Parts: sequence; structure tokens; C-alpha cells
Amino acid sequence: MAEVILGKDVSAEVYAELRTRIERLKSKGVTPGLAVVLVGDDPASQVYVRKKGEMCEELGMKSITIRMPADTTQEQLMAKVDELNKDDSIHGFLVQLPLPSHLDEEAVINAIDPNKDVDCFHPSNVGRVLIGNPDFLPATPAGVVQILIKAGVDVSGKHAVIVGRSNIVGKPMAAILVQKGAAADATVTIVHSHTKNLPEITRQADILIVAIGKPRFITADMVKDGAVVIDVGTNRVEDPTSPKGSRLVGDVDFDNVKEKASVITPVPGGVGPMTICMLMANAVKAAEKASEVKQ
Ligand code: NDP
Repeated sequence: MAEVILGKDVSAEVYAELRTRIERLKSKGVTPGLAVVLVGDDPASQVYVRKKGEMCEELGMKSITIRMPADTTQEQLMAKVDELNKDDSIHGFLVQLPLPSHLDEEAVINAIDPNKDVDCFHPSNVGRVLIGNPDFLPATPAGVVQILIKAGVDVSGKHAVIVGRSNIVGKPMAAILVQKGAAADATVTIVHSHTKNLPEITRQADILIVAIGKPRFITADMVKDGAVVIDVGTNRVEDPTSPKGSRLVGDVDFDNVKEKASVITPVPGGVGPMTICMLMANAVKAAEKASEVKQ
């Protein structure tokens, strides 16, 4: 049966290091500041934004949440981005996605100062990740790397199969694992909705990372014995036994796959907490860069 890796255990070590770095910044008169812009009232986004704010406060960082109505215009949002780009007390910020459909996400991302782009979505930061010289790492893939390190997984030479090719998870995950160096040097395959014989490929994975948003898509017969299985997916499914009438599940059939895997992450409680943790790491890094405080 697999070892179950919890995000809270992995993040505890990262947070301990971040606290030291935040203290060092504060001793030089710099309080790392993170702003989150939330447009509209998407319930999932509200939860993520609240968690980000709570974590900033717990770490003693400055935290601002800017709530804008669902009918915000492109011009109003771009003006807010411009204001945050110029605000010296805000070292990093993000615009929570998805945006209401009338807004142009790409234009917004392109307008964020790359030095403050803690989500690592700006094309110049994405490019830096690809060439192996990153300023920031995208939070979710970076969180997955921390999980692999904590689980003692030797990634070098392993076949990592990534299910999903989004710009925020699948593609940057592949770009990170294929680099030369520690916790990398993998042989990487990306599969997606047009892939033929997908289970044949997932069964070849030493490390299987799944980010598609389909509840319990990966079943035990799609997993090799002893594989490391990282479940990024978060899907709300009906559950009449839960007081809410629903619950969160991953993209992996956890109960059955854990019997076959060597290491597995649960949903909730696996990758999710790591994403917030690595966002905080990016905000601290942005403050260090801005204030030229050496780590
Ligand atoms: P997207 O919807 O942007 O991308 C989904 C990807 O999955 C696409 O590449 C799509 O392929 C692929 N896909 C969809 N269905 C299938 C299928 N049947 N077979 C193979 N591939 C398929 O999703 P995200 O990457 O943004 O998110 C994925 C999941 O991860 C979601 O559940 C999301 O909530 C979760 N997530 C969790 C985070 C966390 O912190 N825990 C952070 C970010 C995301 P194609 O490109 O061909 O359409």
C-alpha cells in the first residue's frame, strides 16, 4: 500500500524556511506584500483568495484583497494592474483566474510586471522556466516538486507521465521535470484529450502526475505497480452523506490506486496546500528581489 504524502507535512518545512526569510526582510524594514485581485463572485475563487489572505497574515506578510464586481470593464481591471505594478509596498500580486468571460485574461497577464508576477503566468516568466533559468516557479508544479523531494523520489531518469497540458499545470510541470539538475532529469511524456491509447502510456509511468479536472479518471488498471502518483485535480462531486451534499475528490481513484502505488497524494490535503505555500514562497522571493536582500 502506498505512502500517503500530505501537503501540510511538506509545506511545514517550506514555511519554516520562509518565516526566517520574512524575519530577515523585516529586520531591514521590508514587509513582504502580496495583493490578490478577485473579479466577480466565483465561489471556488472566493475560497482560494481567503486562504491566500489567511496564510499571508499567519506569516506576518502584508496582504491585500481587491474585490471588483463581475461587470468590471477591461479598462478598469488594466488600471488596477497598472496601479499595483507601481505600488512599492506590494512586491507580488495576482489576478485570480478564471475571469468573467467578457474580460481578456491574456491581456491582463501580459500587463503584470514580470517582477511581481507571483503566479508565474507572464510569458517572460514562463519562458524563463522553459530555459531553466526561472525567477519564479509556477506554484502548483513547484508544489509537486516539493512533494517529490519530501517523499524521497529520485526523479532522475524516471519516466514522468503528465496527464493534462494546461498552461498553469501540465506544461510548466513538464518544463520543470525535463530540466537538468536536482529533482529533475526525468524523461517526460505529456498526454491529453487527443492522446491515443492513454492507459497504455500511463501504465509506463514511474511518476504519474494528473491534472485534468475529471473525477477519479485514473483507475488502478491505468497505473504501474509501485508508481508515484500525484493528484492535482480538484472536483466537487455530489455526496448525500456529507452535510454539504458534496465533497472534493481528485482525478485519481484514490482508494484503489493507493493499493498499487508506492507514493500517492490525497485530495483534499495533497497538492492544494502546496500551491498556496509555493505562492507565498514566490511573494517572499519578489520582496527579496525588490529590496536586494540576499537569501
Ligand atoms: P484545464 O481545464 O486548463 O486543463 C485540463 C487538461 O486536461 C487539458 O489539457 C485537457 O486536454 C486535459 N484533459 C481533459 N480531459 C481529458 C481526458 N479525458 N483525457 C486526457 N486529458 C484530458 O485544467 P487545469 O490544468 O487548470 O486544472 C486541472 C485540474 O487541476 C482541475 O481539477 C483543477 O481544479 C485542478 N487544479 C488544482 C490545483 C491545486 O492547487 N490543487 C491548481 C490548479 C488546478 P486538452 O488540452 O486536449 O483539452
